[in-house]
Amino acid sequence: MSVPLRKLQAFFGQAWQENVRMANYTTARVGGTVLGLVPVNTLEELRKAAAFLWSEDVPFKLIGSGSNILVSDKGYAGVILLNRCHNIKIHSQEEPPTIYAESGANLSNIARMTALRGLTGMEWAGSVPGSVGGAIYGNAGAFGSDVSQCLLTVQILTPEQGEVTLTADQMAFSYRSSILKREKQPAVILSALFKAQRSTREAAWKLLAEYAERRRQTQPTGNSTGSTFKNPPGDYAGRLIEAVGLKGFKAEHAQFSPLHANFIVNDGQSSAQEYLSLIRLAQKRVREQFGIELELEIELLGDFDDEH
Ligand SMILES: Cc1cc2nc3c(=O)[nH]c(=O)nc-3n(C[C@H](O)[C@H](O)[C@H](O)COP(=O)(O)OP(=O)(O)OC[C@H]3O[C@@H](n4cnc5c(N)ncnc54)[C@H](O)[C@@H]3O)c2cc1C
Repeated sequence: MSVPLRKLQAFFGQAWQENVRMANYTTARVGGTVLGLVPVNTLEELRKAAAFLWSEDVPFKLIGSGSNILVSDKGYAGVILLNRCHNIKIHSQEEPPTIYAESGANLSNIARMTALRGLTGMEWAGSVPGSVGGAIYGNAGAFGSDVSQCLLTVQILTPEQGEVTLTADQMAFSYRSSILKREKQPAVILSALFKAQRSTREAAWKLLAEYAERRRQTQPTGNSTGSTFKNPPGDYAGRLIEAVGLKGFKAEHAQFSPLHANFIVNDGQSSAQEYLSLIRLAQKRVREQFGIELELEIELLGDFDDEH
């Protein structure tokens, strides 16, 4: 990286934080030190930060809740922008009713606010612990629904085109993916507009509670990144991991959850490398026994010692 550190310090001022461990900003609670971390609290701050880093050719990653990334123990040689833009506005009188959300807004807040207004359609997001930006990037979903089914438009910023509004079709969503995730082009999601349907507060709230209860019964709490692998066509990653004898298997401080084998849980002491060893072990066993390549749903960030 050619830009001197003092230029970054000068640009970001008080917001610039050094020697930050990503373990404090990811739900897996692993990850080493990054070059610098900057919280962005408004869309204007986000626009300016991204434009500056692009213009200076500084690698950066915008994160929301850090619930879908595994950051290396060696950290990341770039800047982390921590998205704190979380405004939500619900337009319940429009046809269809819409929800405007800034990209750092929490999915579960959207689900709860929508249900309280007597609108339905976002309940699936009630216990997904991520931001709107992360959810759109990876087409998050649960209980038979996903972002692609409720997104109307998304406002993104790119270094070449500036600010553009894309429709759900233009985002070319697929299972746990979008055009942004597949093409890895530099782009920042600023905000999004979702649609909902009219219902009653009681009905929406009931569904929200049902989904939360199903999750409590089938998924572990604790430090994790949620589902580690995508489900292969016609099968379940969790079933395959269990079938190769790894459900509940613990190596050092990381474990395939005894409740849901596709979750790897850090007991609080795990390194990212230990986490990755379990990932590679599951991929190897499933490949050898079933000839199926388990594809990661989560994203690796930084350099790992990988013998894959
Ligand atoms: C316990 C648990 C349960 C989970 N359950 C589910 C589930 O049911 N369904 C599901 O789909 N997922 C689930 N997840 C995974 C995760 O919560 C979702 O993928 C979530 O949407 C990710 O959002 P995030 O803000 O944490 O993204 P991050 O982890 O912060 O980022 C993920 C990726 O998105 C990019 N990104 C984030 N924000 C932006 C932005 N504004 N603009 C451009 N790129 C951006 C990041 O750069 C990164 O590449 C679960 C995770 C956990 C820990």
